[in-house]
Amino acid sequence: MASGKLIVFSAPSGSGKTTIVRHLLSETNLPLDFSISAASREPRVGEIHGKDYYFLSAADFKAKVDGDAFLEWEEVYKDNFYGTLKSEITRIWAEGKHVIFDIDVVGGLNIKKQFPKETLAIFVQPPSLEEMERRLRGRATETEEKIKMRVAKAAQEMDFAKKFDTVLINNDLSVAKQDAYNMVSEFIKK
Ligand code: 5GP
Repeated sequence: MASGKLIVFSAPSGSGKTTIVRHLLSETNLPLDFSISAASREPRVGEIHGKDYYFLSAADFKAKVDGDAFLEWEEVYKDNFYGTLKSEITRIWAEGKHVIFDIDVVGGLNIKKQFPKETLAIFVQPPSLEEMERRLRGRATETEEKIKMRVAKAAQEMDFAKKFDTVLINNDLSVAKQDAYNMVSEFIKK
């Protein structure tokens, strides 16, 4: 495959998108590989450099911005930079696979704009903001202040849903996983 497809999963955090993306990656009959983003935040317990993210210092991140290494990048939260490296797309397409992304809504739409035909942009919608807050608390990886910040951002992000190719409602995780599988396998056949 000279060039493949791009499958973007975007959503407010706490929507379950990371779980859905991991599920699709574990489906051996879908030829997908994960676009490992660069991020300037601290790794959470269990996260691995070069698998979950390329964890960079803010200075190293800025050097890559200056070097034009990113397809898109953003300050998703104050002082926390995240970005998609151009080299991830070439790496994965060279493997003969399609690229799957777990990125925020602005980044997701940015990729869709740059590759309109190749991209399927999926917005994962949590059942409600209350449920999302409950999930974030259940994850117990963030401080109270950070949870509040994420919920506030999520409320804004919900407005973006209509700009995506499709909305995946995550009420029931096993249904959402199956729906996601169907959407992706249809799209990569085209
Ligand atoms: P987290 O800190 O929870 O891993 O990620 C915070 C937010 O940043 C999530 O919405 C995540 O999808 C998003 N994100 C991760 N990587 C990228 C990226 O490369 N670009 C953009 N724009 N957002 C990203």
